[in-house]
Amino acid sequence: MARILYGKEFAARIKASAEHEALALRARGIYPRLAVIIVGSDPASEVYVRNKQKTCEELGILSDHIPMPEETTKEELLARIDALNADDHVHGILVQLPLPAALAGSEEEVLSRIDPRKDVDGFHPVNVGHLFIGTPGLRPCTPAGCIRMLEYAGIPMEGAHAVIIGRSNIVGKPMAHLLLERHATVTLCHSRTAHLAEITRAADILVAAVGRPRFVTADMVKPGATVIDVGINRIAPKQLVGDVDFDAAAEVAGAITPVPGGVGLLTVAMLMENVVQAAKAQNA
Ligand code: NDP
Repeated sequence: MARILYGKEFAARIKASAEHEALALRARGIYPRLAVIIVGSDPASEVYVRNKQKTCEELGILSDHIPMPEETTKEELLARIDALNADDHVHGILVQLPLPAALAGSEEEVLSRIDPRKDVDGFHPVNVGHLFIGTPGLRPCTPAGCIRMLEYAGIPMEGAHAVIIGRSNIVGKPMAHLLLERHATVTLCHSRTAHLAEITRAADILVAAVGRPRFVTADMVKPGATVIDVGINRIAPKQLVGDVDFDAAAEVAGAITPVPGGVGLLTVAMLMENVVQAAKAQNA
């Protein structure tokens, strides 16, 4: 039976380090502050935003909740971002996705409007570029949280064969770069990958970011491998499952993250770390 990598334990360590840094900043008169813009009233987004605010409060980080109506125009949203960019008291800006249907085509323009130094989601093209060339910048929270977990859990990345299923800009691609930065040999798979199971069976570290319930079956896992399940799939009103068939894969893997209770908890913790790092960099 695999070692279960519970997100709670690793998130607590990330949050403790962010709290410590926030305290040091406050001692210098700098109050780390996150502004979260939420357009419209998507119920899932509201839960995520409340969770982020609650975690800010826990760690001594100020947070501004900025609700904007469903019918907000792109110009109004951009003007709000401009105002936050210009506000020296705000260190991190986050626009909660998804945007309402009327703004869905503007996502890239909206995210690119955030000052890259305040882009705590790490989605701005400047930060994506920093990640690509390996220079300092804000890294996307979910994959960065997974890397922290691997470090804290003592799972070696250097020389390991890491296979990632999924090539999205928010998880798969940044995860590939972060693992490469830690000297893993990386294979990035997607929906057109041929012989997927053969590739995943060669993985020392297997990351599933597909968005399909229990997509990764036990026969796709190499005995002893570390399996990181990023997926969050609602299969019934109160039932969440990951992208990995957990019970069967846990019989084969060496270590595995559960869903819920795994990677999801790392994302918010890393966001806190990014806010503190942004505040620090803006006051260097
Ligand atoms: P996307 O839908 O943007 O990307 C899914 C990826 O999976 C695509 O690259 C797609 O390939 C690939 N894919 C789809 N079907 C297959 C297949 N049959 N074989 C191989 N690859 C396939 O999803 P995200 O990256 O945004 O999210 C992935 C999952 O992670 C979701 O469940 C999401 O809810 C969850 N998530 C969890 C977070 C957390 O905090 N824990 C944060 C963010 C996401 P192609 O590019 O070819 O279409």
